[in-house]
Amino acid sequence: MSFETKEKDLLARIGKLKTKSGTVETPLLFPVINPNIQPVSPRKLKETFGFEAVITNAYILKKRFQNKPIEQGLHKFLDFDGAVMTDSGAYQILVYGGVEMSQAEIVEYQERIGSDIATILDIPTGWKVTKTHAAKTVEETLRRAKDFFKTKTRDDILWVGPVQGGRHLDLVAKSAIETGKLPFQIHALGSPTEVMENYRFDVLADMIMMAKMNLPFERPLHLFGAGHPMMFSLAVALGCDFFDSAAYALYARENRYMTENGTWRLSELDYFLCPCPRCASETPKEVMEKTPKEREEFLAEHNLYVCQAELKRIKQAIRDGKLWEHLEMRVHAHPALFTALKKLKKHGDFIEKYSPTVKRSGLFFFSSIGLARPEVVHYRNRMLERYCPPENARVLLLAPQTRKKPFHKAQEFNRLKQVSKRLGEELSGNVHVCFYAAPFGVIPLELDEVYPLSQHEIALPLDRETVDYVADQVSDYIKRTHYETVVLLHDPQQWGDSAKKLCKSTCLKKGVRFEHVNIKAEGSKNILTRLDMILRKHLSE
Ligand SMILES: [Zn+2]
Repeated sequence: MSFETKEKDLLARIGKLKTKSGTVETPLLFPVINPNIQPVSPRKLKETFGFEAVITNAYILKKRFQNKPIEQGLHKFLDFDGAVMTDSGAYQILVYGGVEMSQAEIVEYQERIGSDIATILDIPTGWKVTKTHAAKTVEETLRRAKDFFKTKTRDDILWVGPVQGGRHLDLVAKSAIETGKLPFQIHALGSPTEVMENYRFDVLADMIMMAKMNLPFERPLHLFGAGHPMMFSLAVALGCDFFDSAAYALYARENRYMTENGTWRLSELDYFLCPCPRCASETPKEVMEKTPKEREEFLAEHNLYVCQAELKRIKQAIRDGKLWEHLEMRVHAHPALFTALKKLKKHGDFIEKYSPTVKRSGLFFFSSIGLARPEVVHYRNRMLERYCPPENARVLLLAPQTRKKPFHKAQEFNRLKQVSKRLGEELSGNVHVCFYAAPFGVIPLELDEVYPLSQHEIALPLDRETVDYVADQVSDYIKRTHYETVVLLHDPQQWGDSAKKLCKSTCLKKGVRFEHVNIKAEGSKNILTRLDMILRKHLSE
């Protein structure tokens, strides 16, 4: 295996990829090298910026420089001693409708120049295309992928099998399944550039998920043309291990200044928004006065620093188990990114399957967006599959979450202790105390110290969707268990009335007796007396 996973969070992974020019760490960004016009030299990319790998285009190399990269070797030709990936000219097919070389020629050329990672000549699907056309690109790419294994001669090169299909998700799935059957070491998702240019990050997320769900999970996945740092965390969280970026240079040429929160025109900036060495030593006004070439170099270097810094933050977040928190923060850069995160709910089960659910630290919940987190999905599924209430439990006593965790150590819990003392051991053994708590739902007392039920912080007041989610969880729990009576300690200030109503109607439908005590309306003593009375009444029947 050329790829080994070291750390995981969501579908992201910090991994080691072995290439013939050394081992590189993922998630990894390959800056695109254009040998014709290159604002930052490849040597500098490695020495100054720490990029371990670059990507260049084999089709352009062959067309423009012919045998020179073969004679010198690709690494010497570029003056770069890290890993070099080559693309095949597929992008030129997308833009110009075709290339004047066959797949066999491009494959042979990549073998002769000595690429570390190389790509077959696939046919990109593109964005606004009919399904018939999209299906043709998938078929032709697959035919070429199968053909390729008959002609390749070098096994020390890592070969990339591209997945096509564009926004036609069933075609992406088919392409992934069939390409995944072939012995490629790496896969790549094609055609996302136009999806990103149109800010359809939700479609992009679906495309990535469809590829990810249908490819061999352990093989690294490259996302072609995803060069903006504001969307790195989304792509990494969904399982993309590599990206390439021409954007750092293209944006620089157009006087555009990237940040992890979006893009500015240089002329709009009064202040630089970044602490990189370039921005620290100059002002936007000074940079505006430079020659176009100097300005381009300045912006390209700044853009690279920003990309590299964001990747480091992402890696640290993966290591800390904080990638979801990082992602939630980052999607605020643009509503279209936020939309993509909102829609992730539908892939919750798949993400939960591969994501670690125990972290080095506690979780932060800011809003109902967090309900899609794997830890919430995991708890819901485990409760469904594995949890049964104690056998002698006749009354379900539902108490609201407390600020202090674990809940049973909170002051509010003392009154429940007093009630059970009054009832005596025998009767109180029939009362099962559970908490209803956002974002998890019903938390039985005996589980309230299990990670992460006590190891999280949640923003208050709860939003409507979160309250509704918890109410649904309570209702589902009552439906699938067999208590005779449900007693709800109701806190209308935090939970409103809908949760109580749902709880009551579920009990009515099931023929379970329902009682509630408003814990905000009465004094502590009265609550105690009422609870005592209710419980005695129901337990003696
Ligand atoms: Zn900067």
